[in-house]
Amino acid sequence: MNEQQRLDNQRVNSPDKKSAKDYSKYFEAVYIPPSLKDAKKRGKEEVKYHNDFSIQKEFLGMGTGRKFYIRTYGCQMNEHDTEVMAGIFLGLGYEVTDQAEDANVILLNTCAIRENAENKVFGEIGHLKALKREKPDLLIGVCGCMSQEESVVNKILEKHHHIDMIFGTHNIHRLPNILHEAYMSKEMVIEVWSKEGDVIENLPKVRRGNIKAWVNIMYGCDKFCTYCIVPYTRGKERSRRPDDIIQEVRHLAAQGYQEITLLGQNVNAYGKDFDDIQYGLGDLMDEIRKIDIPRVRFTTSHPRDFDDHLIEVLAKGGNLMDHIHLPVQSGSTDVLKIMARKYTREQYLELVRKIKAAIPNVSLTTDIIVGYPNETEEQFEETLSLYREVGYETAYTFIYSPREGTPAAKMTDNVPMAVKKERLQRLNAVVNELSAAAMKKYQDQIVDVLVEGESKNNPDMLAGYTSKSRLVNFKGPKTAIGKIVKVKITDAKTWSLNGEIVEELQQVEVN
Ligand code: SF4
Repeated sequence: MNEQQRLDNQRVNSPDKKSAKDYSKYFEAVYIPPSLKDAKKRGKEEVKYHNDFSIQKEFLGMGTGRKFYIRTYGCQMNEHDTEVMAGIFLGLGYEVTDQAEDANVILLNTCAIRENAENKVFGEIGHLKALKREKPDLLIGVCGCMSQEESVVNKILEKHHHIDMIFGTHNIHRLPNILHEAYMSKEMVIEVWSKEGDVIENLPKVRRGNIKAWVNIMYGCDKFCTYCIVPYTRGKERSRRPDDIIQEVRHLAAQGYQEITLLGQNVNAYGKDFDDIQYGLGDLMDEIRKIDIPRVRFTTSHPRDFDDHLIEVLAKGGNLMDHIHLPVQSGSTDVLKIMARKYTREQYLELVRKIKAAIPNVSLTTDIIVGYPNETEEQFEETLSLYREVGYETAYTFIYSPREGTPAAKMTDNVPMAVKKERLQRLNAVVNELSAAAMKKYQDQIVDVLVEGESKNNPDMLAGYTSKSRLVNFKGPKTAIGKIVKVKITDAKTWSLNGEIVEELQQVEVN
């Protein structure tokens, strides 16, 4: 749905029209479902930048005496969207709660990447029905990537009438209007735009914590890997202007943040959509490395767009971390072709060679899908051999899961699930072996750890991450939280490290 359709719909579906629920009409006239087909039509329209977000006067105080609760599924992009929505809620006068039962508004910020992620959300939607029965004034909304899928919206419309709002990833800035409509109308409020080319700059945010922060540098993805729903749910690639990003990072540095992660579905395509300047991720990182913030990371990379200039800049080190997550997905050129990843095994290995030559201490991690439709034993073995050849420190590994609306979901697949599971086990055995070997190298080493808080499993211990994103648990004073401290590794396990702090810290209690 585009802006004009939305305005037309608003006229038909005016909020003061308190009719009984009749969902059939959504299908007939009022509701235009999100369309994966429309989402794929990439126009050449110029990206519009908006700096004029504000909460309309009439909505101020909407949340007075009310609480909101957001449950977030999926990736950092969703986590960051939740921070933005929380900022809007606070601007409207709501208070936050971490108990769904206490909330007056519940939002499920969903993920569409895998089928079981969607099943979890539908399970939660089902559970919330009882709460809605108990508290009829409760508003429940579904947002995030699943809302951009026609099949999901149709299923909610047909089966889950206790949901009050569905809105998409392009409609977050419209949250005040959507809430207002939901309060005024008995009907489910649906606002999902299939295509959107705009960047809204000045949205409020409530960041989780004051040590690490995410900074969006771009939105959307134009790569259309054949298994992936993201280019449909997140729209076309559009980059934020460098000045806006740099200003945000400077502001975070001034606030004392220790680490930022630059975010995008395909950060290596940053700047490709600018018509007026030649400016890419390498240029941006080169500017950001001069800012006084101790750690800078970026995710997620696409090998195809990873250029030499970026490697050159990363090699300068400093606050640019020596860990690169470089999703490969498969070690077979044939499978990569079917996945439409747009690089070959050889090109990927050449990129790795260049990165290692420029940054000898680099740690590489990756994502791998096993059991792609019709993947042969030989092709799978190419993945195993590539894994060893690169020498990744660790990997996220998955069995291929079809997503409706993607080209791969239409492919016939001759690989039985038992074979896929067995391949995953074999791959994971190699991942574990290499991870354990990589961790062994830390034994007795002194590493810099950014301390994030108490250890999850033992509140007497502290936990934090090395520059290469390895988890370290160690005994130390609480005053170390939020600081980068030196820790000697005493026990290297497969997935985490234990150690002891080796520097004196001021024994000042941190609030
Ligand atoms: S680059 Fe990433 S987000 Fe884009 S289509 Fe491929 S897997 Fe999906």
